[in-house]
Amino acid sequence: MIKIKKLSAREILDGRAYPSLEVKVVLENGLEAKASAPSGVYLNTFEPKELLDDSAVPGVSRALAAFEAVIAPALKGKDPRQQGEIDDLLLALDGTEDLSRLGVNAIFATSIACAKAAALAEKKELYEYLQATFSLPAAKNLPLPIFTMFNGGLYADTSLDFQEYLLLAKGTSVRENVRLGREIYQALGRVLRENGYDTDTGTEGGYAPDLDSSIQALEMIRAAAISSGYQADRDFSLGVDLGASLFFDQNEEKYIFAAAHQLVSKGTLAGIYQDWLAKQGVDYLEDPLAEDRFADWRELTAALGDRVVIVGDDLFASQIDRLRQGLKEKAANAMVVKPVQAGTLTRAIECVKLAKKYGYQLIVSARGGETNDDFIVDFAVASGAKWLKSGAPARGERVAKYNRLLEIELLCQEKTPVKK
Ligand code: PGA
Ligand code: ZN
Repeated sequence: MIKIKKLSAREILDGRAYPSLEVKVVLENGLEAKASAPSGVYLNTFEPKELLDDSAVPGVSRALAAFEAVIAPALKGKDPRQQGEIDDLLLALDGTEDLSRLGVNAIFATSIACAKAAALAEKKELYEYLQATFSLPAAKNLPLPIFTMFNGGLYADTSLDFQEYLLLAKGTSVRENVRLGREIYQALGRVLRENGYDTDTGTEGGYAPDLDSSIQALEMIRAAAISSGYQADRDFSLGVDLGASLFFDQNEEKYIFAAAHQLVSKGTLAGIYQDWLAKQGVDYLEDPLAEDRFADWRELTAALGDRVVIVGDDLFASQIDRLRQGLKEKAANAMVVKPVQAGTLTRAIECVKLAKKYGYQLIVSARGGETNDDFIVDFAVASGAKWLKSGAPARGERVAKYNRLLEIELLCQEKTPVKK
């Protein structure tokens, strides 16, 4: 019998100088594991609540106190391999719909720390342990990285309207894909510098210069990729995470494109996206419409879904009920899963299973406020996600994820050596 001997929690920093919470689980056999909770830049009303202190940069002392008083004593002595039981208990101890009593930060970090401790006890890599525990079929391929090249919107103090301008790697190995990401990122930095633009970066490590338009941003990424020797479609494509809820005017029912001084209706928006596809090769659109407009999503997916990945991130907020509604209304063809938004590991896996059952493409994503925890990578691999999205190929909390993916590729190769 494997048992939890002790649980503790402490405050740590996330990549934005906000406090986060890290949980440590120590087993009776001496093994120990840690996990922390990332946070979002944009928190919508559908996702569970963190427990934060009332101050300008809210601390986590209330979450730590709730952890000490309620979570730690209840989980002491439990078998960490009983993930379903542990997650049910965490939800029951909280007892609220939005996890606001104990806080999703404490609940999620505990859930993941238990899984990591269990994987150690079972002497398995975390992704293998997750696959076995949740009966997930082994995927043929490792996830393809999606790199943030520019940040805008809430993620940078610049003119760009949208939150991320993305480079989708299409190579056959993680090593190749990571090399493509870093070469193009560096090339883009050189182009910016040579043309007198700022090479400061935004929240997720994407460049954050003041540009004239989103088209200019997309063209610069494309040019940097081609000048680095890569071919569009074969080696890479482009994407945009618009985060459209943030510039949707509810009264006018229009989207405000501030950089281009345009007020855009949903019909015009579809035309713009068609143009991006035809001229810039943008075949991935994340949150291209506001998060409460299911019928509009359905129209856009019907019009473009055979050629473009239409991704619900803020739309679903990793909530299974929102996903069910989306599936019913044929609102998208792909889903972002941010495990912390689901609340517990078990809930996150439920989202993955339902999305896959209905043929949705899966993107496992980091958040704007990330720690150096690389849990989501093992989660993405175990889930058979098509893509892993963790920001730029730069900055510690971002590259922690890509570096773990590189490591998993090596581990897989050791298990099945390439035939000579
Ligand atoms: P978040 O968004 O910071 O609100 O999680 C990140 C993203 O959409 O990539
Ligand atoms: Zn997003």
